[in-house]
Amino acid sequence: MDYQAILEQIRSDITPHLGQGKVASYIPALASADPHDFAMSLHLINGESFHTGLSDKPFSIQSISKVFMYEMALSLFEESILSRVNVEPSGNPFNSLIQLEYENGIPRNPFINPGAIVIADMLTSHFGDNADQSILQYFQNSSDNFSIHIDTQIALSERQSGFRNYALAHLMKSFGNITNEIDNVLHTYFNACSICANTIQLSRCMLHLANHGVDPVTNNKLLSAEHAKRINALMLTCGHYDASGEFAYKIGLPGKSGVGGGIVAIVPNVMSIAVYSPSLNHHGNSLIGTMALELFIRYSGHTIF
Ligand code: GLN
Repeated sequence: MDYQAILEQIRSDITPHLGQGKVASYIPALASADPHDFAMSLHLINGESFHTGLSDKPFSIQSISKVFMYEMALSLFEESILSRVNVEPSGNPFNSLIQLEYENGIPRNPFINPGAIVIADMLTSHFGDNADQSILQYFQNSSDNFSIHIDTQIALSERQSGFRNYALAHLMKSFGNITNEIDNVLHTYFNACSICANTIQLSRCMLHLANHGVDPVTNNKLLSAEHAKRINALMLTCGHYDASGEFAYKIGLPGKSGVGGGIVAIVPNVMSIAVYSPSLNHHGNSLIGTMALELFIRYSGHTIF
């Protein structure tokens, strides 16, 4: 299949739509992103890669880091995680408090904010105050690229505007589901969300999820095959918050989005995909990124169904 031609066709198809949607502004440091930016990268498990647009421009991966945090936690804590974070779609926005109150402080899944904050608590317990650096290293290791970094300005901006995340953490602490100091937990969480990468790096670091947990380029085993299956299942059912059903319905691939405008998707046994365009739809998922993935499915025929 001529993947480069497909990417160029997608880029031409989406160009008239660039600028639609709205860049996230509730984190002030994200508001300066250019709504006309677009990039898309594919990494095949045979080692080939294809790119279009601004694929070397780093952006804030935001909630995409939740995939890596959960991978780390699953390897460390196995089934015991389930007593603290569930694995069900939430049907609610990523920063909603309502469900958390009536479900006794147990978040529905690790890909909404409260779920990732509990995972940040577990990683902080294990790694101490440098848990954010351990998450960054895991990320660098999975992409075989050590230029990926934490943008401390974005992390600071998140902390200064993170009222809902503080509220979520306090609510969960009142139920006994946060064990460390809230500031330490949110330091881990905000720094993990503020990891910056471009689509080349991002698609590269997801490749092990298309290959049963093993990076096919370095043969580095990041996850067991069983855990890789679970991560893919969670991405399919929970990766787009209250639009996860729609994403599965329209695209039919495990995927994970972030409010920075990135989306990653996995074609099992074939490839990993990263797309970037910072304008979001009303669920907080990249509008053009979702459109680009729909086009990719149409042109390539790749879907798990
Ligand atoms: N850091 C963001 C937040 O806490 C992550 C949200 C997202 O990407 N959906 O609100």
